[in-house]
Order: sequence, then C-alpha cells, then structure tokens
Amino acid sequence: MTRITVWGEYRHEQHNPKVAEIYPDGMHNVIARFLRDAGHTVQTATLDEPEHGLTETVLAETEVLTWWGHLAHDEVDDAIVDRVHKRVLEGMGLIVLHSGHFSKIFRRLMGTTCDLKWREKDEKERIWVVEPGHPIAEGLGSYFEIPQTEMYGERFDIPAPETLVFISWFEGGEVFRSGCCYTRGKGKIFYFRPGHETLPIYYQAEVQRVIANAVRWAAPVDTSPVTFGNVPEFMT
Ligand code: ZN
Repeated sequence: MTRITVWGEYRHEQHNPKVAEIYPDGMHNVIARFLRDAGHTVQTATLDEPEHGLTETVLAETEVLTWWGHLAHDEVDDAIVDRVHKRVLEGMGLIVLHSGHFSKIFRRLMGTTCDLKWREKDEKERIWVVEPGHPIAEGLGSYFEIPQTEMYGERFDIPAPETLVFISWFEGGEVFRSGCCYTRGKGKIFYFRPGHETLPIYYQAEVQRVIANAVRWAAPVDTSPVTFGNVPEFMT
C-alpha cells in the first residue's frame, strides 16, 4: 500500500461541458478512485486550493504524486515547484500524465523543453510494450490500443529515458515515446502519455493498470536522509 496524492489542474472540467460530462467530479477523482480500489491510501489536490493543495505536510506524507495539468501550467507557483522538486530528490515518486509534459515540475526535472507534435483527430493509438519484463508493463501483453485519442508525435524533446517501456503508434503515422522512466536523486519519475481530457481515457482498464503499476514502481524504497559534505576520517 502506498500513500498517493493525485494532483489535478481541474480547469477543463469546470469550464468545458464536454469534459464535465466525461469527468463530472474531475479527472483527479477518477484516478484517485481506481488507485484506492487497488488498495492505496489516496488524497487529491488541485490548482485552486491554497498552495495548490501541496502543503509541506501533504508532500511530507506523499510517497507518490501523480500530475495532470494543461491550461494553467504557468499558474503553478514556483515556490510549490521547488517544494515538489525537493521531495522528488528525497525519494518521492512522480507520475506525470499526458499534457503534464509541459508542467514546470517536469521541465525542471528533465532540463529540456519537453515540446512535441500534436493533433486532435480522435485517431487510434497502439501502445507497444517494448520492455515486457518491466514492472510497469505487468499484465499488459505485447500491446494495447486506445480507440480514439489525441496524437502526440516525435520529436519529443526529453532526455533519453533510462528505460523506455512503451512506444505509441498512431493511425496518422507518427510514433511517440509514451512510457519513460527516469531517476532524479532518490526519486523515480514516470511519464505516461495517454489522458486527453475530451475522451474517457482514464476509464480504460489498461490505462488504469499502467498508472497503478507505475505507482508501485515509483514508490520510495529508502527514505533515510543522504549524508553529504566533508568526511574527516577514513571509513574502516
Ligand atoms: Zn491533450
């Protein structure tokens, strides 16, 4: 069991009726529900809460944070980004979803633009498992499909992933690195592509499975503080 905070920007759901119809309580609550069903302790946090719901106390007790943002990346306070960044280096897992590729925290952790190509034509996506032995691919088989989705295409301007678990192919011909693993400090980071807000993607069983697997993979192993600085004596 892992203590998870599901962070949602929660703007599309309040302003776009099409999105509200699919996610009446917000995407974050759908994600929180299936992670709770998987046996985890889950709380949610959203942009418009004080400190975006990510107080020192909340982050101190969070083992894995999931992040969905799109319209309002710039409204995320830099002080909160610093706080999340520090926690990742200390060992908190971070799962970055879909348009979260452009979030301040992901760009900070990657050090690149994280830009990509995109198209909204409700295309089919086939997500190939390229590391079948990886914990995040558990239970998926060789591929799964999302019948209608937004396309994300290469180049995706990220550092080469430490492990690439998924590659997507789209009906329009593009490909994309859809499941990317990184380590920063003691923290594990997983970027997972699916999750466009106008389609019911977070209700799909395989997508839920990947996120649940990713939480298990990203959960901290050792949260004891790391010692740095001058060491006056030889260790024997
Ligand atoms: Zn999207």
